[in-house]
Amino acid sequence: MRKFNVVVLGAGGVGKSALTVRYIRDVFIDYYDPTIEEEYRRTVKLDGELSTLEILDTAGAEQFTSLNEVYIKAGLGFVLVFRRVNELPSPTWSYFVPSLTQEASLKEVDHLRQQIYRIKGGDTDIPIVVVGTKLDLVNEREVQKGKIQDLANRWEHPFYETSAKRNWHVSDVFEDLLRQMRKR
Ligand code: GDP
Ligand code: MG
Repeated sequence: MRKFNVVVLGAGGVGKSALTVRYIRDVFIDYYDPTIEEEYRRTVKLDGELSTLEILDTAGAEQFTSLNEVYIKAGLGFVLVFRRVNELPSPTWSYFVPSLTQEASLKEVDHLRQQIYRIKGGDTDIPIVVVGTKLDLVNEREVQKGKIQDLANRWEHPFYETSAKRNWHVSDVFEDLLRQMRKR
């Protein structure tokens, strides 16, 4: 059985852990320590073939760190996460995570993407999926879906909007990435 290394990257508080844990354990975590970094494993049957995904849920990557560089080198596929809405900081985790706007989280995705291409030196066909989280939260300050879609199109990566809370489109993200990785 083939094994694939996936790295989940994005600014703090965007929902990386909630997304990953929903996919791995099928539960929603309302509170998760933002400093926890963990590797999860799941074997999936997709298109009639069994594969193992090793998913690294990264933490504390407000700035690009040398640790990120190590993870990117080791990863084959990447889930780049931003949040679709601005929201009031939740008292449970805002203590650790400086309040961050939707726009800033999207900028971070762009930045991470550039770092991945730099580190993978010259490789132009890297398995990447872009994810906008918290689809269940409706907010008037939400950035227009069209604007986000334009960016994703320009990047030429598949783009999904998810809710880890409601379990919307979460497995789509990892299945799309797995199909991309199998072609490598
Ligand atoms: P991380 O720092 O990127 O790992 O972010 P977390 O996964 O810890 O999520 C940060 C906060 O957003 C937590 O309070 C989560 O419960 C919440 N959250 C994550 N995903 C969703 C979602 O899909 N819907 C809602 N309503 N809240 C979410
Ligand atoms: Mg986390």
